[in-house]
Amino acid sequence: MTPEIDWSSLPFGYYPTDYNVRCAYRDGKWGEIEVTQSDTINIHMAATCLHYGQEIFEGLKAFRGKDGKIRIFRLEENAKRIRESAIGIKMEPIPEDLFREMCIKAVQLNERFIPPYGSGASLYIRPLEIGMTPRVGVKPADEFLFVIMVTPVGPYFKGGFKNTNICIMREYDRVAPRGTGRFKIGGNYAASLAAGEKAHALGYSAVLFLDPKEKKYLDECGPANFYAIKNGKYITPASDSILPSITNMTLQQLARDMGIEVECRHITVDELEDVSEAAACGTAAVTSPIGEIDDLDTGKKYVISKDGKPGPITTKFYELLSAIRLGEVEDVHGWNTVL
Ligand SMILES: *Cc1c(COP(=O)(O)O)cnc(C)c1O
Repeated sequence: MTPEIDWSSLPFGYYPTDYNVRCAYRDGKWGEIEVTQSDTINIHMAATCLHYGQEIFEGLKAFRGKDGKIRIFRLEENAKRIRESAIGIKMEPIPEDLFREMCIKAVQLNERFIPPYGSGASLYIRPLEIGMTPRVGVKPADEFLFVIMVTPVGPYFKGGFKNTNICIMREYDRVAPRGTGRFKIGGNYAASLAAGEKAHALGYSAVLFLDPKEKKYLDECGPANFYAIKNGKYITPASDSILPSITNMTLQQLARDMGIEVECRHITVDELEDVSEAAACGTAAVTSPIGEIDDLDTGKKYVISKDGKPGPITTKFYELLSAIRLGEVEDVHGWNTVL
């Protein structure tokens, strides 16, 4: 039975679904996949995830396409990335096949929560792994739990695809130069909350963090990657402290397909003077165009969008990537897993 949900007004929040899937790593091996209706986890109060931040996660989406089929976007990339995150903070890497099987299972079991084609909504898939071993001394766990939960989320742009403003703040760093920025871990988010809340309170959608070592180069845009269009080229920051966004990787390919040159390199703050478009990119929004970037420390305002509208390349990216995920255009790179 299809639930009575107003799909297009759903927030990006937790809406309960029927099932989640779990798999435990114990005695040196992954166990059986478990399907449960419970949305709570029983954890020892001394577990390493609670004390020492052993938590990693992923975020991807499933869509109901134009042809009625269900598509999961770039699942293999998320499977690879969560392994890197696990290795990065001494957790057990999840076999890619297990990740894939559990993802598909979680989506299929909750099929009635996959929003209808045309609603702009999707089924958000959130895999997470946590360290379960009780410890007081600082040491990695040797038991882990891998869980995949899914929840329907509404369209990111509720009032239409439009610009937001962001700010540069030198008061906070999201990550350390040789720290954990390139891994998708809960701890990085905890470290970004104070800066993010301050930016929101000042009316900005996000903070454009600078590189934590020299404070010279652009780094990440809140919990998303950053790119800009400069002299017709796609430029995006390259650094060890940046999480390799699958959306960014995808947009780079779309740019090349469109004949746009791609440069992954250091980008200095003053280069913002000469960009014609800028945006934050990630699974939640695809691409979120930026109107203006205000440097709160120098008072300088970089007006990116002269007419207040999203730029043509960013708009094209948004439309094309949305169309690929919905099966409206041919998936030439084989990015979708079609169920
Ligand atoms: C998840 C995430 C992104 C976006 O990655 P996608 O794979 O495109 O969703 C960017 N930055 C950070 C810090 C992230 O955690």
